[in-house]
Amino acid sequence: MRIVLVGPPGAGKGTQATRLAEKLRIPHISTGDLFRANISRQTELGKLAKSYMDAGNLVPDEVTIAMAKDRMEQSDAEGGFLLDGFPRNVSQAGALDELLQTEGIKLDAVLDLEAPEDEVVKRIAGRRVCRKDSAHVFHVTYSPPKQEGVCDVCGGELYQRDDDSESTVRTRLEVYHTQTEPIIDYYRAQGLVVTISAMGPVDEVTARALEALSGK
Ligand code: ADP
Repeated sequence: MRIVLVGPPGAGKGTQATRLAEKLRIPHISTGDLFRANISRQTELGKLAKSYMDAGNLVPDEVTIAMAKDRMEQSDAEGGFLLDGFPRNVSQAGALDELLQTEGIKLDAVLDLEAPEDEVVKRIAGRRVCRKDSAHVFHVTYSPPKQEGVCDVCGGELYQRDDDSESTVRTRLEVYHTQTEPIIDYYRAQGLVVTISAMGPVDEVTARALEALSGK
């Protein structure tokens, strides 16, 4: 399957994407994670991306599209993929369409995760991520690690993402409403959108997502 995941920051896209990718046996491609990997390796791309990310803004399309294209062209993505965080505006959606068209392939579904604003703010404020593997995500009250500051899975250090501060979160939500939400209408016109609630226990949301995708 070829799936795009959309939803506001804090809706649980990363958490659900990891689980769905495993169940569906397709790679999870997260542009946010790719940028963070570049930042920790201190690449030129990482240095460029960091200033935009820390401010809560989108990284310019040109570099984002090139990076996403490069990742999607790797051999593990031939049979399908789950895109998390890309496309994030209408121009990126157009670029993705072009790329798929050249390859003669199509998206199967756009999974839209819905969560109320006060909930996503709470989730982001308490989010802690493992430095060793950004798929290991905790929350100080909703899913605390056994030992504070230490990843249960691999023992890595847990930290708060630079862009998870309260002031940056507001900008990210604003950017989501103005730039990312319009892609839902873009894909709705193609009959691809399935919307589910991102509220409730993680397992329940995954089950809901799999159920919604089975119709596609
Ligand atoms: P979240 O969905 O929780 O906001 P992500 O990890 O997906 O977090 O993204 C973090 C940041 O990375 C974004 O705020 C943005 O600066 C940058 N980013 C990720 N994906 C894209 C994209 N497709 N286009 C531009 N910037 C992006």
